[in-house]
Amino acid sequence: MGSRKKVLITGAAGFLGSHLCDRFIHEGFHVIGMDNLITGDLKNIDHLFKLEQFEFYHHDVSKFVSIPGELDYIMHFASPASPIDYLKIPIQTLKVSSLGTHNLLGLAKAKKARILVASTSEVYGDPLVHPQTEDYWGNVNPIGPRGVYDEAKRFQEAITMAYHTYHGVETRIVRIFNTYGPRMRLNDGRVLPAFIGQALRGEDLTIFGDGSQTRSFCYVDDLVEGIYRLLMSECVDPVNIGNPDEITIGNFAEEIIKLTGTNQKVIYHPLPKDDPKQRQPDITKAREILKWEPKINRAEGLRLTYESFKKLSTEELNKKEHRFS
Ligand code: UDP
Repeated sequence: MGSRKKVLITGAAGFLGSHLCDRFIHEGFHVIGMDNLITGDLKNIDHLFKLEQFEFYHHDVSKFVSIPGELDYIMHFASPASPIDYLKIPIQTLKVSSLGTHNLLGLAKAKKARILVASTSEVYGDPLVHPQTEDYWGNVNPIGPRGVYDEAKRFQEAITMAYHTYHGVETRIVRIFNTYGPRMRLNDGRVLPAFIGQALRGEDLTIFGDGSQTRSFCYVDDLVEGIYRLLMSECVDPVNIGNPDEITIGNFAEEIIKLTGTNQKVIYHPLPKDDPKQRQPDITKAREILKWEPKINRAEGLRLTYESFKKLSTEELNKKEHRFS
């Protein structure tokens, strides 16, 4: 351990958290991963356990968080991240970004560590401004099915700024737009794993609504680079990180059909309540302050993701449920 900088990564066994663990190990950090494993999976970080510069705590961050010794950075990435998860575990979703963030800010203050919290494009809700700039305040339904995630993340931003202004804690806030790549949970309900899973199982692709709603998908390596740059920058205000290449969900389904060569068709299901009609990040701020922009286009990112999903076992492919406790 010795002179290595130490980082605590919450949600370490999840999609983004596990990729962040890899990045910080690669940068020479001592990494402390933390996860309660309700949506994360240890197989995402299996390869790290043999390293002496990695350790893991099985812990729920909405309970008091204690870490011995010094700590330089905290990355708060623990949270369910899929709309179907919010519906199944709404209270945990609320707690991890409110109580959990409070605990981690307290830890950051005690350790004099810099903390970066994972916020989201969901703070903009079903946006009335397009593309979304950081100064847009959003259009969120607090009592709708997505409100448990959106409002917890909005509270997270508020308490993070309060710890910065009142306690002088060094804070960073990233607003993450739709991200994809290897290690997404195939059954997490989000559109990309849903479509690829359906194609691999020989099922029809389920479009919610008429498919005219838009999203802008960022490959995970680009996102991790943006987040790393933000952490190391002096920027306290929230920064959007995402890929502005916007596409309708209908056209996205066509791309997945072409990519996978499936003979299946698309079928239409009702649009979930409060599903945002359009979403595209304005990344002017990230370009200017972080000198960052995405490098991996959708064709390449989808190919890499598909390659990784193709390696899943039949059992993993057909697993419908995930443990929630
Ligand atoms: N969606 C879909 N079919 C699916 C899953 C999702 O058409 O099987 C749609 C969903 O209604 C939304 C978009 O794809 O409009 C992206 O959904 P996702 O859950 O991935 O993330 P969101 O951006 O809504 O948080």
